[in-house]
Amino acid sequence: MNTPDLTILREDVRAMDAYVVSDATGLIKLDAMENPYTLPPDLAQALGQRLSAVALNRYPPSQPQALKTKLASLMGVHAGAGLMLGNGSDELIHLLIQACAKPGATVLAPWPGFAMVEISANLNGCQFVGVPLRADFGLDTDAMLAAMAHHRPALTFIAYPNNPTGNLFDRAAIQTLIQAAAPGLVVVDEAYLPFALDTWMPQQPETPNLVVLRTLSKLGLAGLRLGYLAAHPALTEQLEKVRPPYNVNALTLAATDFLLDFLDLFEVQAASIRAQRARLLAALRALPGVKAHDSAANFILFQVEQPDRTYSQLKERGILIKNLTRMHPLLRGGLRVTVGTPEENDAFLAALAASLGQPQP
Ligand SMILES: *Cc1c(COP(=O)(O)O)cnc(C)c1O
Repeated sequence: MNTPDLTILREDVRAMDAYVVSDATGLIKLDAMENPYTLPPDLAQALGQRLSAVALNRYPPSQPQALKTKLASLMGVHAGAGLMLGNGSDELIHLLIQACAKPGATVLAPWPGFAMVEISANLNGCQFVGVPLRADFGLDTDAMLAAMAHHRPALTFIAYPNNPTGNLFDRAAIQTLIQAAAPGLVVVDEAYLPFALDTWMPQQPETPNLVVLRTLSKLGLAGLRLGYLAAHPALTEQLEKVRPPYNVNALTLAATDFLLDFLDLFEVQAASIRAQRARLLAALRALPGVKAHDSAANFILFQVEQPDRTYSQLKERGILIKNLTRMHPLLRGGLRVTVGTPEENDAFLAALAASLGQPQP
């Protein structure tokens, strides 16, 4: 086959590394912050019935108002707020940046943070500024304020709790940053809300430059691809102009509407994951050579002496986690494990203890 001439593509795109998703075939998958539980069979059956009634010959509604109202009332979104749906919150991050990407615009985030923010900023031609966290992974408020004064970022992304470190930043510090950022927008990304049980949503109506971003992914519906953001309606009215009109497909809309009636099921699962998180953290801390960090999310960041070796030995023993040691100097030695079922966590702990117990080469 003749190859196309790739010089037609953007230089920066050709120079990029692709976002790597590891193949998990045959492995216990603890790398992607997924909920380990599938739907109960009777619920899956009923969902199938519901989806079979969706008219796939038609485009989805571009403004599914009844679903938005239902989502808003269940998720504590203020009735007067603007609510926008996305194909996962990843898409909403992209659309927010795209809408603000004036020439020379800056996107700022405490770093290490959520990788998609930097990728989206770069793809939209923005300058990305990552402000290093303190050694304890807390916000370096002075450094953030200095970077804001210098770069006047159009957008500041703060994951609450942060990925990949798992901690909740200090609320008063975030409040200070929101004030300092104005008129720049501050996006508080609450992807891990089910495990943190702490939110900025109540502050959103009184804070015009605050955008609250959420997703159903970590709650247990990562395959659904449904994210949402709440912001002042004057802002969402503008953001709607950059949203592809049919970005959330008809099956996702119908499944979301159906599954929102069973939120208590997902909340029970989240509670069990939170309990497992505490057990996993205590067990990790009991292992010599492991430094495990507190987490308000459904994953735990821990550091070991030889992360590459530990990572591959876990994989050989059938466990897939995430190796972060090369992401940022603060993450040296860092591995991230998603909290799974009790059995998966047992298997992970046994494999980790076995690999750490082996004589070093
Ligand atoms: C996982 C994650 C998301 C991604 O959410 P999707 O809705 O699945 O696209 C967003 N933000 C943070 C901080 C995450 O860790």
